[in-house]
Order: sequence, then structure tokens, then C-alpha cells
Amino acid sequence: MIVVMKDGSDDQDIKKITDRIEEMGYTPHVSRGEKKTIIGIIGDLNKDLNREEVAQSLGAYSEIDRLVPIQEPYKLVGRSFKKEDTIVEVGDVKIGGKKLAVIGGPCSVESEKQIVNTARAVKKAGGQILRGGAFKPRTSPYSFQGLLEKGLKLLKTASEETGLKIITEVMDPRDVELVAEYADILQIGARNMQNFYLLKEIGKTETPAMLKRGMNATYKEFLMAAEYIMAEGNHDVILCERGIRTFEEYTRNTLDLLSIPITEKLSHLPIIIDPSHGTGDWELVNPAARGAVAMGADGLMIEVHPEPQKALSDGQQSLDFEKFNQLMEDIKVFADAAGREI
Ligand code: PEP
Ligand code: MN
Repeated sequence: MIVVMKDGSDDQDIKKITDRIEEMGYTPHVSRGEKKTIIGIIGDLNKDLNREEVAQSLGAYSEIDRLVPIQEPYKLVGRSFKKEDTIVEVGDVKIGGKKLAVIGGPCSVESEKQIVNTARAVKKAGGQILRGGAFKPRTSPYSFQGLLEKGLKLLKTASEETGLKIITEVMDPRDVELVAEYADILQIGARNMQNFYLLKEIGKTETPAMLKRGMNATYKEFLMAAEYIMAEGNHDVILCERGIRTFEEYTRNTLDLLSIPITEKLSHLPIIIDPSHGTGDWELVNPAARGAVAMGADGLMIEVHPEPQKALSDGQQSLDFEKFNQLMEDIKVFADAAGREI
């Protein structure tokens, strides 16, 4: 962090600040210009008093014009911590490697027939991971809330039959143990991205986690949420962009595909794109998926339902089996161009 002193600050002003910096356990490095004086703070800002605490303290001095951060606040998730891309291994499925990871399945698990048939279709089309919500974060308390543990059991049945891995959402820290008994990947939903107790609980498990970007989260907040999981010891974290809220009302969310190159620059973690929630419209899912693959996404998460018209949640953005097949065909040329295998 760099401290920019107010114009015309004198020796006494500067000493006041350097004394405080030393008091907080860091070394000040003063560089004096004709008008401007800047002070570099040397030391590991993630230790002792952390970055926020130092910034808060210095922010209270009237002698200081502003503080300029020079390092990102996250550590474990950052590229500077680990140069190579992280590949999250879920059995024989790798997320973040050369092969594109494809997750498909219904918004909610509704019945054995629905989830098993969908799993077969996802597998046949080339997907490796089955999605399906058993605990559903619904906007209305009167909407279908999911089948809970019964839904987890049905996912297991479908997985045993097809060999697909399971990803499913866990909403409550108290359910983490239960959901981890069934899931190969724990999903953290957009609404829970900053549920720090949930993140910590998942961080204590050895089950890979997929963190969805909150609908109003900046990249910094997104990556700091991932840092919570990693800081507890679980380093198998996958990021997922699912669209953010903007002024645009035509689509359910605005799918921020720039998250692909941006998170790739800032972090070593893999990123999956969810064009279903990102657009909220089945007609837009295919073009958004093609764009995501072309831009270098590590994978896709697509809502697939045997009869979207009868789905208990998110039918309007779900693909039937034929449309999902078509999507898998249509992304091939883009995967190829991006140097990925399907
Ligand atoms: C989901 O994927 O089932 C879901 C609820 O998505 P989000 O948390 O992104 O809204
Ligand atoms: Mn959904």
C-alpha cells in the first residue's frame, strides 16, 4: 500500500505517519518530491494488522490525501500465489484442464424418472456432471423448495446408473455434512456467495466447491469469498459466473463473459459459465454458451429438463434433450478454436 501525503506536508506530518506505520508493525519507505510525498508500506499486509485495519487507521489522518493499494487483498486465490492453473479433480473428471467440463441437469430434482432420464440424456450428449437442486433458494417462500434429502438420494441413483458426478447446492452450514455425503461438488448459490459461515464450513470439508458469483458482487468480493473457502484448507474451488444485476431488464441477468479473461488474469482457479441463469431465456442459452466457450471458459453449467414446460422451477431457461444435444454440437467448433476438447 502507498500513502500519498497532502501537498505541502512537512517533516512533522510525515513523522506522525511513519511512526504510526512502525507502530502497526510495518516499515515505512518515504519518497519526497517537490510538492508530493509518498510513503510505501513494507511488510506482509495479510499478517499482523491486516490491510483493512491498516487502511482504516491511516484513513483517519488529516495529513493523508489518499491510500493506493498495490497488491490484491486475496492471497490463496491469486495468480501471484500460484502461477499454474488449478485443475480441480473430481474422480476422473477434471475441471480447468484441456477438456471442457459440462454440467447439465434440471434446476430442481423433481422425481426419479425426471432425474434419471435427464442424467441419461446429459451423459449421451457428452456431459460429465449432473446438476439438480435438492435444497432450492427460491425468491418466494410459497414456491417449490426442493425435495431435500430425498432429492439427494435421487441424484445418487441417477449418478450410479450413468457414472455422472453430482453437483448440488447447499444453502445452510448445518446441511454441509449431509449434502457432502451425496455430492461430488458442493454448489454455493449466488444468494449465498457472502454467507461467510457457509463458506467456512465448506472450507473445512474435502469436497470440491463451486462458488457462484453473487448477482451484485464485484470481482474483488467474488474472489474474497473464494478466499474464505481456501483459507479453511479446501483448495478445490471452482468459480462460476451466472450473470449480474444491471439496469437491463430484458434478460434475467447480464451475463458477464469478461469474467473469463478477468478471473484468469487475477486467479488460478477454473471458471464455469452458467448461461441458463445468466440469460433466463432458453433461446439465449445456446449463443451465450458458444460465446463462453470461444472466450476460454473451463466449462458450462446448463439447465436441462425432459419437459421444460412442466418444470417446477426455471422451465423458461431450460433446454429439452434435443436442444441440449444441439448445444453440445454447436459448441464444438468454438471449443476447437479455443484449444479445448469436448
Ligand atoms: C442454481 O444454479 O440452481 C441457482 C439457484 O443458481 P443461482 O444461485 O446462480 O441463482
Ligand atoms: Mn435454476
